[in-house]
Amino acid sequence: MKSKEIRSQFLEFFKSKYHLIVPSAPMVVKNDPTLMFINSGMAPFKEYFLGNGKPKNNRIADTQKCLRVSGKHNDLEEVGMDTYHHTMFEMLGNWSFGDYFKKEAIEWAWELLTEVFKIDKDILYVTIFEGDASEGLEHDSEAYNFWKKFVPEDRILNGNKKDNFWEMGDQGPCGPCSEIHVDIRSAEEKAKIPGRDLVNQDHPQVVEIWNLVFMQFNRKANGSLERLSAQHVDTGMGFERLCMVLQNKQSNYDTDVFTPLIREIETITNSKYGADEKKDIATRVIADHVRAVAFSIADGQLPSNTGAGYVIRRILRRAIRYGFTFLNQKEPFIYKLIETLTAQMGEAFPELLSEKNIITNVVREEEQSFLRTLDQGLVLLENIIENSKSKGNNEISGKKAFELYDTFGFPIDLTALILRERGYSLDEKEFDIELQKQKERSRSATKVETGDWIVLAEDDIEEFVGYDMLQTPVKISRYRKVESKKEGEMYQLVFNLTPFYPEGGGQVGDKGYLKAPDGDLTYILDTKKENNLIIHFTKTLPRNLAETFTAVVDELNRKNTAANHTATHLLQQALRNVLGTHVVQKGSMVQGRNLRFDFSHFAKLTEEELKEVEDFVNARIREGIVLEEKRNIPFQQAVDEGALALFGEKYGDTVRAIKFGNSMELCGGTHVPTTKDIWHFIITSEGAVASGIRRIEAITGDFAKRYFIDRSNSFSAIQKILNNAQDPLKTVEALQEENYDLQKQIKGLLKDKAKDLKGDLKAEIEQINGVGFLAKKIELDAAGMKDLAFEMGGESENLFLVFGAEQDGKALLACYISKKLATEKNLDAGKIIRELGKYIQGGGGGQPFFATAGGKNPGGIDEALEKAKFFV
Ligand code: ATP
Ligand code: MG
Repeated sequence: MKSKEIRSQFLEFFKSKYHLIVPSAPMVVKNDPTLMFINSGMAPFKEYFLGNGKPKNNRIADTQKCLRVSGKHNDLEEVGMDTYHHTMFEMLGNWSFGDYFKKEAIEWAWELLTEVFKIDKDILYVTIFEGDASEGLEHDSEAYNFWKKFVPEDRILNGNKKDNFWEMGDQGPCGPCSEIHVDIRSAEEKAKIPGRDLVNQDHPQVVEIWNLVFMQFNRKANGSLERLSAQHVDTGMGFERLCMVLQNKQSNYDTDVFTPLIREIETITNSKYGADEKKDIATRVIADHVRAVAFSIADGQLPSNTGAGYVIRRILRRAIRYGFTFLNQKEPFIYKLIETLTAQMGEAFPELLSEKNIITNVVREEEQSFLRTLDQGLVLLENIIENSKSKGNNEISGKKAFELYDTFGFPIDLTALILRERGYSLDEKEFDIELQKQKERSRSATKVETGDWIVLAEDDIEEFVGYDMLQTPVKISRYRKVESKKEGEMYQLVFNLTPFYPEGGGQVGDKGYLKAPDGDLTYILDTKKENNLIIHFTKTLPRNLAETFTAVVDELNRKNTAANHTATHLLQQALRNVLGTHVVQKGSMVQGRNLRFDFSHFAKLTEEELKEVEDFVNARIREGIVLEEKRNIPFQQAVDEGALALFGEKYGDTVRAIKFGNSMELCGGTHVPTTKDIWHFIITSEGAVASGIRRIEAITGDFAKRYFIDRSNSFSAIQKILNNAQDPLKTVEALQEENYDLQKQIKGLLKDKAKDLKGDLKAEIEQINGVGFLAKKIELDAAGMKDLAFEMGGESENLFLVFGAEQDGKALLACYISKKLATEKNLDAGKIIRELGKYIQGGGGGQPFFATAGGKNPGGIDEALEKAKFFV
């Protein structure tokens, strides 16, 4: 069975059990401070398990793109080494939100595997939670009894808290789980060791394929457990592992999910998969990582230097390094795999197809730049080795290796490998200590302690009323304390309803305050959304939490932000108009001060294009287009009416559409009622973010006014300096011209001076052993010294000149030997200057007839000049 059919059969099966089939959520998480990437099928549904929202259906099934490279789930180091862990993989899952529980979950899993997929019952094992006395948790006999109907008791194994008690995080919903494992070893192997002894023992052919989680508890901040009022089912099955079983393979990489990529890697790198263990690992790493990177870019996460972008960059670099070291790839090559990947997965995940060009360009560029880093690192490593050699040391310090790794991004295993090849060793202990120290530093900097929610009033939905109101009476429904090194102690407040816009869709969160009836103010510093709750951040708590407060949004900041948000939409229209419809938004950041807009385009914008874009936006502003807003319209309707939806954005069933003139966009942000309110739009910068992606920054409204005023002020200041010139531009141009003429004159004068000097110096030449010798300190720069030496040399055939000069606190030396003299007497200016360079604490070199040296000790010039005579 082809992988495509396996995927669709899974979904069909659960559809027949009345599950709603939904598409995969984007893998890159936006606007959730607690998670960077979706790492399991349940993550997009967190809000339902926490009770902060209601799902469309209480039974759902899907295949979800997951990435396990950071945080609680990090499989990165396993990937490639083994044959069944990936960074990015698909997790097939079925969910019950307060609907069915253990019985159905177990029955259906068994039915699907053994009756639909026809997996041999004799290769399956299941595990159940054995209980944990320290937490007062019992053996999951309920699950045991359901399994017993299908599975012989000696194939039902007990598992401990680590394997069989699932937790979302340090806090939140959790419960016992039951895993299904397969034993796909040969009969011979099975006869030697029974499969039950290998379950959960990291055996590559006895692996977990499906985990059924029964959520029945909530873990509180103090570690204690409480029962959930509604019980849920969350299951996750590794799609690639399922394909391995159903296609009778021994490795995920031998299934049709991976073979096209592997064949392509073989072709590009001219190697054979399966012939050499090290090369095989490298091939697997590359086949795996290219998927993770491509899917992330398609979801809008480009490689970068911080946060999620940095994680993606590191994954790609890991692949590049394996290719570099084990497959001898010294030029970019991973980008070539995007073609194969999109051809194979594009149908199931259309975002790959539409973003193919950008993915290819970004990967190629990243490869190029990291290969340069590797080259540079190799040179630095060479220096370190030379240095140790000169000290007779065979062990390279871990500190030095850490520096290479930390500052230059040079991979430590590559360092170790090269050292080994060269007969050196590495002080790995010292390296590990440095690495540990750095980890501690970043951990303590980002650690956040979150307290339990204190619920003041049960309230299911915290309505956002901020499109229509900037002030409204509110009650606090719950709050909690959070503490981090960065922010110190903070409180997070949730209201029954709120006018505060939570950060999202590129727009920053609102600021403002809560006013108590007695006039006491509590400032709201930021607003964010977490698991569908709108959270208001404060430094302190109001005195009486039970009161009714007036929530007031900072109006000026909101107005400026709204102006920038609407301007962002107009900017997108302008770009598509001026540059073409290939322009697609790749990111944006809208705040009161300014706006930033990233978009796909292949070249730098010309002055004219920028002007045209500005003019277009300003013309729309002058027109005073009135905002048309459609709230809560079905997603499909909006798209049919021409609204632009973005890949990587998670949209609900109903959306809000924003229309200015004839362009419509899906947007939850806040806008001005008419474009007139933007006042004016000015582009402040344009540049590249990555290959094929440009960034424009711009200002509007009050900030544009400020910009004009500042410019006008500096113009006046310039005018004043120029003695109130009528036309300062003309005056400055005249000054520039004058300056140019003066420089020319100075150059001429210096030349004359050198000529005079030449006359004086000629008189000072001494005859030693038939050689005209002169060593002298002069006041010229390096170029002047050279000119002088060659001019004097042109007039005589046996000159030996050494000049010294001091410039900007540094010492310069030059040595000139007539060519004839150099050959006849076997003199070498290069060698001589290196010797003399020692007196000025520097080095240099050149040719036998002319060489120069620079050094940091001008005090040594005289001595160098004295010693010069010795060479004659
Ligand atoms: P393992 O112990 O094999 O790492 P897990 O306990 O981490 O698995 P879960 O978190 O229960 O796995 O995830 C559910 C299912 O997802 C697993 O049964 C497995 O089939 C699949 N899975 C988990 N991690 C990976 C991975 N890194 N690559 C591919 N599939 C995975
Ligand atoms: Mg795991």
